[in-house]
Amino acid sequence: MSLIVQKFGGSSVANAERVMNVASIVTDTFSKGNDVVVVVSAQGDTTDDLIEKANEINPKASKREQDMLLAAGEQISISLLAMAIEKLGFHAVSLLGWQAGFETSSAHTSARIKRVDASRIKRELDKKNIVIVAGFQGLSKYGDITTLGRGGSDTSAVAIAAAMHADLCQIFTDVEGVYTADPRKVPNARKLKEISYDEMLELATLGAQVLNNRSVEMAKKYNIELEVLSSMTKAPGTIVKEKSKMEKMLISGVAKDTEVARISVTGIPNLPGLAFKMFSKLSAKDINVDIILQSIGHDGKKDITFTVAKSRGEEAVECLKDYMENIGAAEILYDDKVAKISIVGAGMESHAGVATKMFEALYDAQINIQMISTSEIKVSVLIDVADADKAVSAIHAKFFD
Ligand code: ASP
Ligand code: MG
Repeated sequence: MSLIVQKFGGSSVANAERVMNVASIVTDTFSKGNDVVVVVSAQGDTTDDLIEKANEINPKASKREQDMLLAAGEQISISLLAMAIEKLGFHAVSLLGWQAGFETSSAHTSARIKRVDASRIKRELDKKNIVIVAGFQGLSKYGDITTLGRGGSDTSAVAIAAAMHADLCQIFTDVEGVYTADPRKVPNARKLKEISYDEMLELATLGAQVLNNRSVEMAKKYNIELEVLSSMTKAPGTIVKEKSKMEKMLISGVAKDTEVARISVTGIPNLPGLAFKMFSKLSAKDINVDIILQSIGHDGKKDITFTVAKSRGEEAVECLKDYMENIGAAEILYDDKVAKISIVGAGMESHAGVATKMFEALYDAQINIQMISTSEIKVSVLIDVADADKAVSAIHAKFFD
């Protein structure tokens, strides 16, 4: 007998028919003699709808109250799923985050899981219940309901798998696994059998949107093997684990991230310490800087260009404007019509010319590169957002066709 954690995203429980479908997947797994803990997200667009409701009343509502509201979405889906399982003649119990033992930090709307006290879950499994846990939520040490940030239920599932030493953690979604590119945009995209945590982490942060990146970080830390698969088809999914050895591919995927903005600070005096001062202003505000490019100084001046998340872009500009006199800069330029396109692959470390191949694909498609950054397992370029889909297709074709 194994302990299996199964997580179902919002689209998998969007309506009554889908909830019944999930109930049948879960009860099939249980009938094979497994202990099953299920984690679910809120149905369909429920979380977005709740955010909209809050905004109608008070767009500046405190984060504590936002969490109180958003946690309601998952309460609906866990109870409906428990009812569906009862209807199929099985015993189920639904638990909110706090009932399932999720202790989190008190950073409302982006709380971190500190510990999962799984004793209640264990007691329910001992009673032969299928246990259904609300994803995305927990309780702070002050006894307040918290949420983990958008897409947080993946992390809830991995946290339970880690706390309970589960044999398998399956993440059911609306795609059949992890692909070499977004299959809705690139018809030739292939499903990967396996991918390593590190590659998945890059793809998750780069906007591949199959798994929440914190869930992958946690899976890597506790060595939890994940399977990403579809709740709609019976096809085998993609396994995410420490080392993927099956497919020795040069790259494992091409990802697009349009949630980026580019900021240039021009005419900065060419003196030591100014980059440090500038970026420390941003880090004091917890604004993450990604690709950085500094021009070679001329006439005693230099330009520094970098990217930040689009959602923090305006704040970053404001923060630097206030500081412009101190750094003696001439101008701050802002552009959020950009996209970051990346290739990711553990195989590229040992192969020369991977980046060149990517640049060639962009050249063939006549797409201009604004910035470049590389790491051991990734090459990213910043381009005009209007070229983003064309770039992904061109690069994908170069490596996979
Ligand atoms: N319902 C939450 C959201 O939409 C959590 C999740 O889906 O994982 O962000
Ligand atoms: Mg959701």
